[in-house]
Amino acid sequence: MTTHGPRDQPGDFRRPFVCFTCRKSFKRSAREATRTCPDCGGGATQLHQKFRAPPRESSEKWRVVAFLVAHGFRYQSITDDTGRTLSYPTTMREAEEFVRRHGGRA
Ligand SMILES: [Zn+2]
Repeated sequence: MTTHGPRDQPGDFRRPFVCFTCRKSFKRSAREATRTCPDCGGGATQLHQKFRAPPRESSEKWRVVAFLVAHGFRYQSITDDTGRTLSYPTTMREAEEFVRRHGGRA
């Protein structure tokens, strides 16, 4: 059952979810039980608020997102040993290097 109440209930944060099949991002309440893609009905993955979805046609960038999520990176803030916030990679080459170097931080 779904209800369509007011969008801005106190404490009801809307989080980005992605469907890797459709290469689509959509916002859902973090409290909502149903977390499936509205288009294909497949499973959706919740990411951090900082996530910005690449354009649908950027298959490389979506591959990067899927690769990072598979390694535990959901676009949460990651800092290195010096406390510097790391920026997320946008190419597969950078992503592979990023996971090699920072895999333990996810
Ligand atoms: Zn989908």
